[in-house]
Amino acid sequence: MKRIGVLTSGGDAPGMNAAIRAVVRKGIYHNLEVMGIYNGYSGLINGKIEKLELGSVGDIIHRGGTMLHSARCEEFKTKEGQQKGIEQLKKHGIEGLVVIGGDGSYQGAKALTVQGFPCVGVPGTIDNDIPGTEFTIGFDTALNTVLDAIDKIRDTASSHERTFIIEVMGRDAGDIALWSGLAGGAETILIPEENYDMNDIVERLNKGNERGKKHSIIIVAEGVTSGNKFAEELKEASNIETRVSVLGHIQRGGSPTASDRVLASRLGARAVELLMEGKGGRAVGIEKNQLVDYDIIEALSRKHELNFDMYKLSKELSI
Ligand code: ADP
Repeated sequence: MKRIGVLTSGGDAPGMNAAIRAVVRKGIYHNLEVMGIYNGYSGLINGKIEKLELGSVGDIIHRGGTMLHSARCEEFKTKEGQQKGIEQLKKHGIEGLVVIGGDGSYQGAKALTVQGFPCVGVPGTIDNDIPGTEFTIGFDTALNTVLDAIDKIRDTASSHERTFIIEVMGRDAGDIALWSGLAGGAETILIPEENYDMNDIVERLNKGNERGKKHSIIIVAEGVTSGNKFAEELKEASNIETRVSVLGHIQRGGSPTASDRVLASRLGARAVELLMEGKGGRAVGIEKNQLVDYDIIEALSRKHELNFDMYKLSKELSI
């Protein structure tokens, strides 16, 4: 293998730049040429491809977002779109591709693999919802952003003796809600993986009140319902007044944490190694702090699992 490509696709995540840097530097270290494909699969179809040098990825390890930009591309979901992509890859002499992105981006990598083009998926999304890895690049940074917000909201919640509802991202996964809620000492955490019981929530809030608790924080994962809808429901069920904070896209931005930078560097470099070993159609990940890789089709057939022991613990600690 002489030349590989790298792209970022779908929702951006802090640490994607660190992963791009790792792919480029690791590739060049092993005498490969590395081509950057801009704007995800859309740029692939349209040939927005440029050679990246050592210096092209200088000064980006600490930056959020992605220097290769990201995009959503409906055309790439079609066979014709994928064929156009493969033609561009061939035209540019690219023999293997690293795709950094989430669930949808992995589907694109799988499609290329099925058509015979070697691809390796690197999990980059704040949602932590990719099977085949315990952690995705960007999750830890998003978590710390949410935690910072919880801590700040707790200050005002406690001054005004209020109940706050904080809506967090995560799509269909409850990981951001669970981890930030546990780390932030939230009283209640609503996750899409489990139905909530309004009576139980009200009872817990009332019990807290009775023992003189000054404030409560409820974390609602976007995959459950919106924070505002839940506030209305809670008011109807209990007459408890709340304030709602929807954190939104701040969760996607910011300088990646040390943990995300290290993870991105390890996973990006491993993806290059796999391509050099002639192993396409793989998805890289981390399990028990060891790098792992799985067949991308098999990985995508599995479901990401939430840590229910941690969920149980969060309930035990917030009585
Ligand atoms: P994420 O990667 O963050 O989950 P999306 O779900 O929007 O983001 O997917 C990103 C892009 O991946 C899509 O815009 C599309 O170009 C490509 N993609 C998604 N699903 C498929 C699919 N089934 N086949 C081929 N490409 C896909």
